[in-house]
Amino acid sequence: MNIKEKKFVLALILAIMPGVALAESTIMEELGSKAAKAAMDQLKFEKGDSNILVLTDAGYAQIGDQTTQRALKGIMTETGANEGDGNLLRVLRPYFKPLWFFFFNKSTGEAVYMQVDGKSLNKSLEEFKALSDDQVFSKISKANVDLNYMLNHTDEGNATFNKAAFNGNEFSLVSIANIWAQPESTFDFLQATCFHDHLCPGVTSGYMLAKYMEDKLPITNSSESYKVVAIPQWCKDDLMQIRWDATPGKSGMFVMALTDAEKSALKAKYNQTDVAGIYIRWNDTAKQGDALVLGFNWTSMYGLTGTANWKGPSWASKLVMDVRMMDYWNKPEVAVTTLKEFKVDSGKLAMLQNAGMHPLKVAGVL
Ligand SMILES: [Zn+2]
Repeated sequence: MNIKEKKFVLALILAIMPGVALAESTIMEELGSKAAKAAMDQLKFEKGDSNILVLTDAGYAQIGDQTTQRALKGIMTETGANEGDGNLLRVLRPYFKPLWFFFFNKSTGEAVYMQVDGKSLNKSLEEFKALSDDQVFSKISKANVDLNYMLNHTDEGNATFNKAAFNGNEFSLVSIANIWAQPESTFDFLQATCFHDHLCPGVTSGYMLAKYMEDKLPITNSSESYKVVAIPQWCKDDLMQIRWDATPGKSGMFVMALTDAEKSALKAKYNQTDVAGIYIRWNDTAKQGDALVLGFNWTSMYGLTGTANWKGPSWASKLVMDVRMMDYWNKPEVAVTTLKEFKVDSGKLAMLQNAGMHPLKVAGVL
């Protein structure tokens, strides 16, 4: 190829490339729009209806090597749902999981789940626009997911959960939708649960532990931050990563497991309270901090929420607990206790974080 020919090919590539990228994005936007229109038809709502919640993994899931965030634009344009109004939430999924959309109408309890058939996107925009919903979505599934409704119609609840109406996303979507629908629900909590994938009593315990810590050892200046030694780990720890920006990569969180023997020894020692971790308010200028070893008493939480001897359908126990735990979001002391309090300097901090050490032994609680 001579220089002239090379220049011609380059010009050709440059002319085509933006067009290709644009067509792909437009199909993705059209996909969001198709999902929204189908949901508006199935759940009978108009643009701007504040009873509607949209959950999706758009922006996380990829189709081939294509990112999917443009689908959000189609959803927002058609339904009016958006992050600012807190009724469009993105639920974390790995990139290799399917792309789905979930629409929930809190005025009726009805919801529709749509999973995208990735192959349907390999088309021109015109061809894609002409596809029917059944050709674009490999699954379209409608159910009433209001918790009270399902408890009164257990056959329908059983069908939703036992037949995987939402392709394995049942607990994730139903839990987030039901808490979102409560008037006392808060955006910060929903945001953390979307990072966690689902809304469970475990992530709720994280909300209570965080609020307890924030009350006992509040952040008072810009040199301070929270550091967490999550030992043992459970769902709570994902909430703190978001809430406190306490991420492992920035040394905000160290996560360690305990053996079953260690867990039962601790439970016996601390009156049936589970050790939740070591929470440090660290001052990075003074290079010192204050630490609390906190415990969470699940026995009292089961008692307070009336779920200790759950007799109802198995899929409902955590959902019921989620809703009833809302009463205690701002009363963490009903389940959270300080097991130990101590001062931390740089040396102690290093010991608490070091793989060769046992942080609960360093803290003197085991
Ligand atoms: Zn969880």
